[in-house]
This record gives sequence, C-alpha cells and structure tokens, in this order.
Amino acid sequence: MTDKRIIYVDNAATTAMSERAIEAAMPYMRGVYGNPSSLHGEGQRAKEALEAARARIAARLGCEPREVYFTSGGSEADNQAIRSAAETGAKRGKKHIVSTAFEHHAVLHTLKKLEREGFEVTYLDVGAAGVVSAAQVAEALRPDTALVTVMFANNEIGTLQPIAEIGAVCREKGVTFHTDAVQAVGHVPVDVKAMNIDMLSLSAHKFHGPKGVGALYCRRGLPLAAFIEGGAQERGRRAGTENLPWIVAMAAALDDACDSMEKTAATERRLCDRLIDGLSRIPHSRLNGDRTRRLPSIVNMCFEGIEGEGLLLLLDDAGICASSGSACTSGALDPSHVLLALGLPHEVAHGSLRLSLSEATTDADVDAILAAVPRVVEYLRDMSPVWEQLEKGERPHLI
Ligand SMILES: *Cc1c(COP(=O)(O)O)cnc(C)c1O
Repeated sequence: MTDKRIIYVDNAATTAMSERAIEAAMPYMRGVYGNPSSLHGEGQRAKEALEAARARIAARLGCEPREVYFTSGGSEADNQAIRSAAETGAKRGKKHIVSTAFEHHAVLHTLKKLEREGFEVTYLDVGAAGVVSAAQVAEALRPDTALVTVMFANNEIGTLQPIAEIGAVCREKGVTFHTDAVQAVGHVPVDVKAMNIDMLSLSAHKFHGPKGVGALYCRRGLPLAAFIEGGAQERGRRAGTENLPWIVAMAAALDDACDSMEKTAATERRLCDRLIDGLSRIPHSRLNGDRTRRLPSIVNMCFEGIEGEGLLLLLDDAGICASSGSACTSGALDPSHVLLALGLPHEVAHGSLRLSLSEATTDADVDAILAAVPRVVEYLRDMSPVWEQLEKGERPHLI
C-alpha cells in the first residue's frame, strides 16, 4: 500500500460520512436498540429519537414532521412518489405525466415502465443549457396531466431548474408536482412550502450522511400509496422497521450541511470557477450546462477526440477520483443520456468528465487536477486515430 494522497472529486456519486453523522448514529447502535413500534420503554426511547429526527428534517425542508416519510434512499423515494401520483391520477382518468429528458434513472425508468402500462409521458427538452422553463411546463400541461416531475438539480451537469416557478404553475393548475431534489438538499436552499412542491425526494449519502437512507416529503392531504406493504410504520405508507441509526445520522448530516451551506457553497463555487476557467483552456473542450444556473459543486466538461473511460482510469492512476457522469451509467459504453439531452453528438458526449467537489476540496486539489487533466487529455489524443483525422481536417471538429 502506498499512502498516495487521494483527491476525491466524485461527491455527486456519494460523499464521505461526516464525523457528526457517525457520532449521532453510535448511541442508536450501541445503546438505544429498541424497535420504535414496541410499547416498552426501550421502544419508546427509539420512537422519540425517530420523531425528533423527523422534526429536524421537516424543519430544514420547511414542512410539518408528519409530511416526512423515511425511505431507503433517493431511488425508493422517486419510485414511490411517481407510482403513487400515477395511481391517484389513473383513478381520476388522468394518465399523462410531464418530465424532462435528463432525469435520474430512478425517475426515467419508473416513467418508462408507466408508459408500458398505458401512461403518456411528455419529456421536456432541456436545451443546450440544460435548464427547462416554467413556460415549457405550462405549455405541456393537459386536462389529463396527473403529475409533473422535474429534478431540482441535475446530478451529471449540476444545472438548477426553476423549481419555485414550476411549482407556482403546477399549483395554479392543480397538478401534483414532484421534484427529485437529491442533489439539492443540503447544498442549496430548499423550502417546499415557498416553492409549492407537493412531493420531494432526498438521500442522506449525497450530503455526508449514510448510504441506504433517505426521505420522501409528501404534502398533507395528497394521497400517498404504500410502496412496501407490511407493518404500520411511516403511517402505513412504508412498512419495515425503521433504520434508526441511519435516520438519526441523516438528520445530523442535514443540520450540518444546512448550517454550513453558505460557507461551503462559496468555497466550492470559487474552486469550480478555477476548474472551469483552467480546463476551458484545453483546445476543443466545452463546459456542459449553463455557466451560472448551477450547483456550486459540479463541473462537467467534454474534450473532443477522447473517451471518458480512458480519462478516468488515467486520472485514477494519478490519485484523482472523478466520474464521466452518473455512477449508474459509468461502466456502460453508452454515452450519458444527460449529455445527449443537451444535444451533444455521441462522439462529443463520450469524452466527458464530471468533477463534483465538497467542502473538503482545496486549492491544492484544484492545482493537481489542472495539472493532470490537460496532460492526460493530450496523451489520449496523441494515441487516438480519431484525433489524428480531426487534426488533419479529415473530419470536422464538433467543438
Ligand atoms: C444519487 C441520486 C439518486 C439516487 O439516490 P440513492 O439514495 O442512491 O438511491 C436519485 N436522484 C439523483 C438526482 C441522484 O443524484
């Protein structure tokens, strides 16, 4: 083993658990191990901790504790929200859903399945900037629209969607509005009431909490169908003994993330700007997604004439943990559906790099990345027959 320093810039895939989150979980592994559904004192102590965590999370979202349902993560929350809204809509003869072309697969695959079951889905064009408008949503709404589901922040390119404006449109038309806010919660301000959000998905491991736990906010009065059948946990909407240590840790991690949000965002934004400016000097490169309407922490660039996989492996050798896009699609040879949704040609979309920062990222890390990436891109281009043709003008440069 070498003690090579690792530069971890894949925080959109997952984050390290914070010390505060780990410490918060400990007493519920070592001491308070009761089942929150048990009537004895140990169970009641667990129940109190569960409800305290729910109240803390609700406070951070701007909702009531009873509107927060714990899940096994972001994917489950997305599945439950969309399935439930579709079921409710179908009962009223509404079988149309509005979404975007660049949602997370937890949303997209659920929608694809609903299409096979007879629903119709309108996928809004996200344009070259990777941002939809509230006007596009308004235009797509129909009398039979059961649900609008638009992600808060894109996990591959980091662009922020105008959620409050979309929420206002949906509320006015009386259409249920769900947002996958997994990349946003703990990173940018989120207020479900002010933003007219009816359902929202979040996941602890994207804000320094543990993996395998998340939550679904569902506005009071809106029907929420049980996703897992069994006991009466989560007010009958999600059976299964609650993962108390992880739920408590999630609440602690969210408190931490929200308390330090402004400071973290300022650091990340400054470092991301350095990365964008530095990497844009590489010839035939481009920043993916709008430069300003974005999370402070995600940079996604394309470099023409290379394969993202090669870039990642060589960066890994240099101790830099990055990604070519979503963790779910890396490994697959298909280019990212997000980059294709921006209108990028396949050849360009293949050469992508996502760097996602955390509050632990430093200027020295950025220096190392800015030294490594241009060197690796040049090395890969030197070996690439495609690049040779591009250089000789035998095929046109696309960027
Ligand atoms: C990570 C992520 C998910 C999935 O969350 P899990 O907790 O890993 O299931 C869903 N949506 C977005 C936007 C994500 O970034």
